[in-house]
Amino acid sequence: MNKQAAFNSPDLETRIESLLDQLTLEEQVLLLSGEDFWTLPAIPRLGIGKLRVTDGPNGARGGGSLVGGKTAAAFPIGIALGATWDVDLIREIGGAIAEEVKSKGAQVALAPTINIQRSVTNGRNFECYSEDPELSAAITVAYVEGLQTNGVSAMVKHYAGNESEIERTTINSVIDERSLREVYLRPFEAAVKEAGTWGIMSSYNRLNGTYAAENEWLLTDVLRGEWRYDGVVMSDWFGSRATVETINAGLDIEMPGPTRHWGQQLLDAIAAGEVTTDTLRERVRVVLRLIGRIGLLDHMPDFVEQSEDKPEHRALIRRAGAAGAVLLKNDGILPLAKPKAKIAAIGPNASVAQIMGGGSSQLNPHYRVTPLQGLQARLGDNAVIHAPGCQNHRWEPLMAGEMHVEFFDNTELSGPVAATDTLDHSVAFWVPPFAGGKVHPNKFSARLRTTFTVEESGPHSFGIHAAGKVRLYVNGTLVVDIWDSWTRGRTFFEEGCDEQTGLIDLVAGQEAEVLMEFAAVPPGNLNNPAFRFGMSRPLGDAAIAEAVRAATEAETAILFVGRNGEWDTEGSDLPNISLPGVQDALVAAVAAANPRTVVVLQTGGPVEMPWVNDVAAVLQAWYPGQECGNAITDVLFGDAEPGGRLPQTFPAKWSDNPAHSADPEIYPGKNGNVRYAEGIFIGYRHYDAKGLNPLFPFGHGLSYTRFEITDFQLSGNGAIAAATVRNTGDRAGSTVVQVYVGAENSLVDRPVRELKGFAKVDLAAGAEKTLTIPLPSRAYAYFDTDAQVWRTEEGQYTVSAGFSATDLRASITVCKSAEVILK
Ligand code: BGC
Repeated sequence: MNKQAAFNSPDLETRIESLLDQLTLEEQVLLLSGEDFWTLPAIPRLGIGKLRVTDGPNGARGGGSLVGGKTAAAFPIGIALGATWDVDLIREIGGAIAEEVKSKGAQVALAPTINIQRSVTNGRNFECYSEDPELSAAITVAYVEGLQTNGVSAMVKHYAGNESEIERTTINSVIDERSLREVYLRPFEAAVKEAGTWGIMSSYNRLNGTYAAENEWLLTDVLRGEWRYDGVVMSDWFGSRATVETINAGLDIEMPGPTRHWGQQLLDAIAAGEVTTDTLRERVRVVLRLIGRIGLLDHMPDFVEQSEDKPEHRALIRRAGAAGAVLLKNDGILPLAKPKAKIAAIGPNASVAQIMGGGSSQLNPHYRVTPLQGLQARLGDNAVIHAPGCQNHRWEPLMAGEMHVEFFDNTELSGPVAATDTLDHSVAFWVPPFAGGKVHPNKFSARLRTTFTVEESGPHSFGIHAAGKVRLYVNGTLVVDIWDSWTRGRTFFEEGCDEQTGLIDLVAGQEAEVLMEFAAVPPGNLNNPAFRFGMSRPLGDAAIAEAVRAATEAETAILFVGRNGEWDTEGSDLPNISLPGVQDALVAAVAAANPRTVVVLQTGGPVEMPWVNDVAAVLQAWYPGQECGNAITDVLFGDAEPGGRLPQTFPAKWSDNPAHSADPEIYPGKNGNVRYAEGIFIGYRHYDAKGLNPLFPFGHGLSYTRFEITDFQLSGNGAIAAATVRNTGDRAGSTVVQVYVGAENSLVDRPVRELKGFAKVDLAAGAEKTLTIPLPSRAYAYFDTDAQVWRTEEGQYTVSAGFSATDLRASITVCKSAEVILK
């Protein structure tokens, strides 16, 4: 049954029709565009409350800017949720995030992000669940159900073909229909048909030539016609670019406000007969339905944003962090026994908690537990030696302290100060109106001053990037100048320039003054002036030598390496999948110094590991939210099972990835097009087809115990798989039984095998359980584009059960007769 039906009370539908009769044409148009960045307008005379949205997906940031704001609970990022393969846990997390959304006075979460991991370098790889459509679909359904059964609407995004951040607001994704149906649309279809999502966000890009927000095939034919969707389609921020084309194609809400293309222009288009009043009425109908579903009819709550740091959220996030952590390699060193001597916590991510990715999913966390703090909390402060070894930042680290800003209502920093502000960090992302509305958002300038006490003598590196011209002075010396040379680069959602740095010598104990000058530039796709500057002391060979010394002295060396939200971020793709900076050299040096070296990786996706054979264990912990260090420590010491399994293949090298090509049109794109030439052969389907051995396969992840599949059967002519799994080790643990289907004698191109079902199970030592995994008709079918149906060919299919795409423990051949399944 379509779960939306459960929320479609006849009373609500009657009320909506009556409201539609009472709303004036102007009011109807008003309801379709944002009033400001995060809300729709209320219409109090008819009891229509003000709808408020918040990003997502790893929590609820609330209103205002991307930085600062009320603190919020930071949950694990998307790929970490995908790695749990645990739909019950995800439903629980969806429910907790619903509470967070409400605490921020909102009713709609701009979440989840359910695009497919096509290229390992996608800047938003971290936000997405998986390279596999069925795993993505299952996690999506659970997350949406968790939100919506708690009265908060999902806004699944970004529909569709948004698998890279390069030229993200204009790129044309060229994807054949079969790949769309079988891979890229699949999680959206599940969100509609299985979870009954109330909201879908259209993507920025063009799909096969037409902007997603103007794509009638996507928004009307498939979504409403075939899938019977009755919710809203909201544009991505500034992602609607036309008046008539968008509304006629099926877009319901233009975001953010104030309107750019609707409002009066839509009224004019209606008057000119280019948009019918029936179309308008249909768009308003679904918006009212959403407003009804989230409880805003005859309910006008006061807007209150709160920080609710709940113990049950803390516990859930800690549990989820371990449940998504993937033990990639273990020679037996993990779980660590109680140390007899000191252990070393080495690496740039040891004393910095990497808890989330960058971009619109950022939030101001209640707190962040670093790995070092996690270890110290468990072992005592003196049990751990710490050495950073090197840096892994993309931008110089933010500075903290009182920063005084003066705004001028011109771009020359001249005349009277129009407004002032105080920041506590060296970053701002201004959402108009700002500076008390006293300056024009595109024709202003600002001067920022701050001072700090120099800790160590020697060269200091200052770096800055901005959506605006900037200059940075330290103690009166111009250190970075991006004024005349300013040009858009890969920061601030492709609106800001790339970072430039400069060195200056400073003396310990002295006060230093930093002065930044800023001038607005004409807006691009977004209208958010922004800057970010920072400072560090460059680390050199001495820092690696220090780390090696710490490793030599320690019983065990734990390396905390990886990336951070500056790399794994919305707005720009990764340059490659090597660990940034000299981290590979650091790992090699530490591993050579201590055979008991454990690598804890934190990235939003795969990395190359040239040192993998030299270390004793590798744990992938992703960005697990605010409990980062505690969750990692729980796994390292066996207080929690490493519950994660890879939702994305880790290739041996970047060039093995399906989207990696000598032809730039395949990736990163050429002349405005990116062509998904690999078709349905993405992720493990590609490695299987090409016979490539990945570094770690899809579905892989070790446990602290051992499991066997002792019996595997199919019944109902392949409609139900039953796998009996036994914990043959001597401690409790969890595993994921994965069921793959492969067509043996297909006349069309089909993958060797595809994941079609899975189940996660916790078992005590020696215990066993039979898991039942349904394989619906479509598990055997491909999409026949000519006939526009799902088609199962007559013939043999191999159904396998195992613990990864390459670790298959049992297989059965089933003969299927031909079957056609309607879309
Ligand atoms: C992102 C969306 C996000 C929106 C609002 C856009 O840049 O693509 O995912 O929800 O901004 O912050």
